[in-house]
Amino acid sequence: MADVSMLIDGALVDGERDIDVVNPALAEPFATAPVPSDAQLDQAVAAAKAAYPAWAATSVAEREAALHACGDILEANADMLARILTQEQGKPLVNALREVNGSAATFRRASGKALADRTSEDADGRRIVQRRRPLGVVVTIVAWNFPLSMMVGKIAAALVAGNTVVAKPAPTTPLTTLRAAMLIAEALPKGVLNVVGDDGTVGPKLTSHPDVRRISFTGSTATGRKVMANAADTLKRLTLELGGNDAALVLDDCNPKEVAGGLFTGAFGNSGQICVAIKRAYVPDALYDDVCDELATLCEGAIVGDGLEQGTQFGPLQNKAQFDRVRGLIDDAAQHGTIMGDSGTLPEHGYFIRPQIVRDISDGTRLVDEEQFGPVLPVIRYEDPEDALARANASPYGLGGSVWSTNPERARSFAERMESGSVWINRHPDLAHHIPFAGANQSGFGVEYADEGLEEFTQIQVITARV
Ligand code: NAD
Repeated sequence: MADVSMLIDGALVDGERDIDVVNPALAEPFATAPVPSDAQLDQAVAAAKAAYPAWAATSVAEREAALHACGDILEANADMLARILTQEQGKPLVNALREVNGSAATFRRASGKALADRTSEDADGRRIVQRRRPLGVVVTIVAWNFPLSMMVGKIAAALVAGNTVVAKPAPTTPLTTLRAAMLIAEALPKGVLNVVGDDGTVGPKLTSHPDVRRISFTGSTATGRKVMANAADTLKRLTLELGGNDAALVLDDCNPKEVAGGLFTGAFGNSGQICVAIKRAYVPDALYDDVCDELATLCEGAIVGDGLEQGTQFGPLQNKAQFDRVRGLIDDAAQHGTIMGDSGTLPEHGYFIRPQIVRDISDGTRLVDEEQFGPVLPVIRYEDPEDALARANASPYGLGGSVWSTNPERARSFAERMESGSVWINRHPDLAHHIPFAGANQSGFGVEYADEGLEEFTQIQVITARV
């Protein structure tokens, strides 16, 4: 029996088998998680389908109240959940606690008010009402960098809109989500929320299931393509929040020390494992050496270690595959540039990599062109800001981007020409649940958060009456 259960049709159940969950700070298993059989997956989808009509028929206020109760439960258990999150994900405990409390707040502020009926015409004997109807069974799938908050964001929006859910966390970070589901089960009618484990085989089974109406997916672009293909058969609605290779474009009117502080925070948060982390920095000739030196000093001062230890600022990479990938990118980058900032201690075990930069590297190298999703930032020198903008835009991705300048108009003129869904000025990233978030190009499509994101969990229905 695993250390956590799955939630299927209101019951807490074991899986067909268990998998080990590894603590990345120790590089060894510390708990087990269940994996569902195919029959259990079908049962989870069937339970969500059966629960749908009654849940969709509840009032928005009732659904908001149920989600509010889920938020209260998460908050009451925040310390326990945060410890699990740190152990399975690696992030410092203080950040894990922020993620759990943020997830509680997401449940509590879930609101369906934006979905109220709209009368778009009422004259000359014709009345047109636009409605937002829920879709049915929604599958939510997320990556391992913010396992709880990304999942709760999807679940809260799906449920408040009147859908029912089958949720699947990433195989390497299932515990916090399953533990949270065990707790909030009592606040929801049976079948409304189902949460299953995964050994890496479950995603395609859910995304191709004929009774699933919508998929809300966060993960890599490569997997996003597969999800899209699977959704095609039954034309499932789809939101894809995928990878990114966010560029920060620093203009020559910046203060190097200040801008280096902003770049450091934007690149290395969560040890670089943020979809909208700064993944490339374009810095002008005039500031280049100073910005690189400042960044290197900040990297050298970083406290890297086990997230359970007080004072840790940066945890390990979340899993061995990602650790190996980032190490490979660093080895390759060392052939094309100069590594700076990689000095300081590391724990003996675990998937640790210290924050570091690579200077004198340029486009056309793996570290610049690919998404590293780890704590190593290429800093690219430029002479002409128009050329730097063109290089920043020459990417298949288009998630976020930023412009750094003390001149607001100049910054704005570059920001408007960045080809990404979100652009920030003098900060990166800057996300909020009331602000829409959407990737451009191969960073995905569809919107998350805000009213625009909520609408994606619905189908528009127009009722035209002759009266
Ligand atoms: P991944 O695509 O390998 O996995 C993401 C999720 O998809 C996991 O739960 C995984 O089990 C599941 N999955 C794998 N194969 C599947 C399939 N064929 N069908 C359905 N589901 C499947 O991504 P990852 O490596 O775990 O996460 C890192 C990536 O996620 C990075 O590219 C990062 O930028 C991206 N990401 C994007 C956002 C965003 O909002 N845009 C947020 C966080 C992470």
